[in-house]
Amino acid sequence: MERFRHFEVAKGLAFISVTALLMYGLLKKWEDTMNAANRRVRQLAYSDGTTGLPNAHSFWETLQHSITEGRPFLLLILRISRFEEIQDMYGRKQGLTFVVAVAERLKELAGQNVFVSQTEIDTFHLIVRLGGEVREDAIFRHLEHRLQQPFRFGEDELAPVFHIGAARYPGDGTDGELLVHCAYRSLAKARESGALYIREHAPGGMESARRRLFLEKELKKALARGEFTQHFQPKISIKTGETVGFEALIRWHHPALGPIPPAEFIPIAEESGDIVAIGKWMLREACRQAKRLQDTQQCFVPVSVNVSARQFWQSIVGVVESALDDAGLDPAYLVLELTESMMINPESVVRILTRLKTLGVKLSIDDFGTGFSSLAYLKRLPIDELKIDKSFIDEILTDGPDRRIVQSLIALAHHLNMTVVAEGVEKKEQADCLRALGCDQVQGYYYARPMTGEQLAAFLADGGNGQADPAGSAVLV
Ligand code: C2E
Ligand code: CA
Ligand code: CA
Repeated sequence: MERFRHFEVAKGLAFISVTALLMYGLLKKWEDTMNAANRRVRQLAYSDGTTGLPNAHSFWETLQHSITEGRPFLLLILRISRFEEIQDMYGRKQGLTFVVAVAERLKELAGQNVFVSQTEIDTFHLIVRLGGEVREDAIFRHLEHRLQQPFRFGEDELAPVFHIGAARYPGDGTDGELLVHCAYRSLAKARESGALYIREHAPGGMESARRRLFLEKELKKALARGEFTQHFQPKISIKTGETVGFEALIRWHHPALGPIPPAEFIPIAEESGDIVAIGKWMLREACRQAKRLQDTQQCFVPVSVNVSARQFWQSIVGVVESALDDAGLDPAYLVLELTESMMINPESVVRILTRLKTLGVKLSIDDFGTGFSSLAYLKRLPIDELKIDKSFIDEILTDGPDRRIVQSLIALAHHLNMTVVAEGVEKKEQADCLRALGCDQVQGYYYARPMTGEQLAAFLADGGNGQADPAGSAVLV
């Protein structure tokens, strides 16, 4: 009885084990089947059945990934022209063979830096990660070369027409849909003109309206991201050659576009209003730099800061006061550079300028001669310095009227007790001429280019002697 029970238990256990094994086998098989099915589904979802190339879904994923990565890339859309006609003429099967042949040629490019996908039967999307060995020119040349070679099918030889549209990240946009839209527009232009592709702009360049919009968006983040720096250009006494001041000039290095000139982004920041925050930052940093030079090098020369119109009308007095306070800088060492165009409303201008003068700062009129301030008006303003615009200095050696204009401006400024600074002095002859005309100070590449804070400290420690630069480029930045 006992043995029988043991036997029954053993039988039961064996049955359970066999069932478990069977179940396991079945499950495993089912899992394998499911895996294979999933793989197939994924393959179908991510690649095109005919050519094995990744499909539209995969393209969008890769595009998004490339944008997140943030490195410059080129997006290309390649289309076979009049594919339906080819199919009509040669039949559907031959048409597909031709598409496969095109895909094979494109696959030659595929690799770590080039992603090739097929989004429609006659359309391919490529993402080319630029930089290092991978150059835009080379990619276009390769495509041109390979696509112009005829395709052979047995007896038949086919020389189809292709068109390519291009868009560049980040130049043409930082958004996937915008980039694709851009590339399709470029494709349409190539088709209209019957060309393989049209190089609308240099690599990294973009249409001006789009670039402006892009810069406007990027400017909003630039301050928080710490993309701005300051450079300083010495102002030199024309008589002694000594540095008697320096002008703070903003620099913007965009992570993807590189350095952007202030002449390009300052007007955009003025229009968007971002100049107010940027200008405030410049003022504070410039005051700190001047104070640092006083503390570390006993160099007591004023710093000049450019003030934009918007900044002037919005809270300039309070901003200047707090920048001076926080840096612990004596107001006598700050010069504000204003422009003639700000002087439109005499009464309010006089009121603000008087408040600034009461603080103890100096006031300068920048780019003088390019605006239309009347002399009578100028007389009423508490201005300490006139900066004669570079355009007059450029022509000072030729036979035109500019030399006489500069002569008159110098006489006028002196008459009103103002210091005269000539901007953009690039040659010794210009400096000699300005000296003869009685100009007080000069600024320009002949003496020193704008330089970093560290370079300025070294320049000043070296004597800050602008005349020690006969070649005209003491510090190249
Ligand atoms: P600006 O105030 O007239 O500054 C002088 C410009 O002439 C600077 O260009 C300087 O680098 C350049 N320069 C100096 N010497 C020479 C020379 O000998 N030859 C030539 N060809 N150029 C010379 P930058 O730094 O590109 O600034 C351009 C303009 O951007 C400035 O003209 C100013 O109007 C504006 N800017 C620069 N920084 C600021 C800022 O912090 N705030 C505001 N509101 N505007 C700024
Ligand atoms: Ca200036
Ligand atoms: Ca100027």
